[in-house]
Amino acid sequence: MADEKFDAIVVGGGPAGLSAAYVMAKAGMQVIVVERGDYCGSKNVFGGIFFTNVMKELIPDFLKDAPVERNVSKRRFSFLTPTGEVGGGFKFDRFNKEPFNNSFTVLRAKFDRWFSEKVEEAGAMIITGTVVDDFLLKDGKICGVKARMEDGDLYGDVVVLADGVNSLLAKKLGFHNELSAESTIVGVKETIALPEERIRDRFGLTGNEGVAYEYFGMATGGAIGSGFIYTNKDTISVGIGATIKSMLEHKLNPNDVLEAFKAHPVVAPLVRDGEQKEYSAHLIPDGGYDKLSKLYGDNVLVVGDAAGFVNATLFHEGTNLAMESGKLAGQTVVESFNKGKNYSAEALSQYKTRLDNSFAMRDMKQFRGSGKALEHNSKLFGKYAVLMEDVVSELFAVDGEAKWPKEVRLVKKVLTADNPFALLKTALDMRKVIV
Ligand SMILES: Cc1cc2nc3c(=O)[nH]c(=O)nc-3n(C[C@H](O)[C@H](O)[C@H](O)COP(=O)(O)OP(=O)(O)OC[C@H]3O[C@@H](n4cnc5c(N)ncnc54)[C@H](O)[C@@H]3O)c2cc1C
Repeated sequence: MADEKFDAIVVGGGPAGLSAAYVMAKAGMQVIVVERGDYCGSKNVFGGIFFTNVMKELIPDFLKDAPVERNVSKRRFSFLTPTGEVGGGFKFDRFNKEPFNNSFTVLRAKFDRWFSEKVEEAGAMIITGTVVDDFLLKDGKICGVKARMEDGDLYGDVVVLADGVNSLLAKKLGFHNELSAESTIVGVKETIALPEERIRDRFGLTGNEGVAYEYFGMATGGAIGSGFIYTNKDTISVGIGATIKSMLEHKLNPNDVLEAFKAHPVVAPLVRDGEQKEYSAHLIPDGGYDKLSKLYGDNVLVVGDAAGFVNATLFHEGTNLAMESGKLAGQTVVESFNKGKNYSAEALSQYKTRLDNSFAMRDMKQFRGSGKALEHNSKLFGKYAVLMEDVVSELFAVDGEAKWPKEVRLVKKVLTADNPFALLKTALDMRKVIV
């Protein structure tokens, strides 16, 4: 491989890198993807729902053979209180029909591997089990990467960094700083086996439909974060994620938070009698728009989690933003390839222009204040959750008290539980997480 030169090198075979590689290979470029896992997907952790709007653009008939678990037609958002929940959600039959709201539970070990095969079919080469440690430079400019293997100097005109959260390579270039504790989420997840029929009965499902249950409030032991349950075919994915800073402040460790979440009276009946199959942990970039890395330079672009493209609000989207950024980086490179292989930073700035017009960047901009809003309203994960249980349980208590005096009493209770302006500010701030 030492003498071979590629048109493009992609570091990381997750959704972002594979999308970039797919677009470039389809356009006839010589592309190599270097993935450190034994196969694509082997190291990838998520909740999760794979949002397939971009996949549908790249491979319109992907559902023919993609290994999806269930289509998500039912979502529920709950605020966990000490002993219960206050929640709401939706279930629509229209989401049980094509395109299935572009929302599928998947197991990444299967799904990413399948995607990588499509990328190979498109003409890219993928080498796995190999870590990229550094760049190769010529006259101060990137001309390839150093992979940890024999003859590991790989030469290429342009490098796409898709090496996920905490991209050491982007950091080497000075494109972003160290991850900070307040804008990084640590997530842990268990995959729990349950018979298929029991999953249907327990979650009220028919056929291949699935659910996504997201839990806020006391789901994370007072830390700023959330918990989740997603149904696969014959397993469920159960996990929590919280900012590292708030975990440290509350002296929590992620494993104990997950155990407490599974033992919560609302969650316990849903995970009962399951057998743990897998346990995994991973970081999530949560800095939002303001912490996006530098996105391009001479001969290099950054995509997906490596750049910080995650919408960790109520919507919990990452896979589709990763694919969109990968796709747009790929398209930018193809354009430069076709126009005389000019990969200067100026030429690659088209990537940013394309991103600015995409749903991915527009969503990042829209929710740019959400992380800070949650940080400033940490009472939502403790004090206000307790108050919520008190007030809602009293409101709905059938105890012979007339409704009007009870309502007046409960309003007073809320207004004296905290500074009314603080409560109002919390209500207004939550807008930033939802709209
Ligand atoms: C607990 C949790 C729950 C989540 N839930 C959801 C969800 O429900 N829905 C959703 O859309 N998103 C979810 N996400 C986010 C989503 O997983 C990511 O946004 C998405 O995987 C990003 O894709 P990516 O390709 O940028 O990075 P990754 O999927 O992380 O891929 C990066 C790849 O690069 C490889 N790599 C890293 N360094 C090197 C190197 N030096 N050399 C070679 N290879 C390297 C890694 O092995 C990996 O395969 C969740 C994340 C977590 C952690």
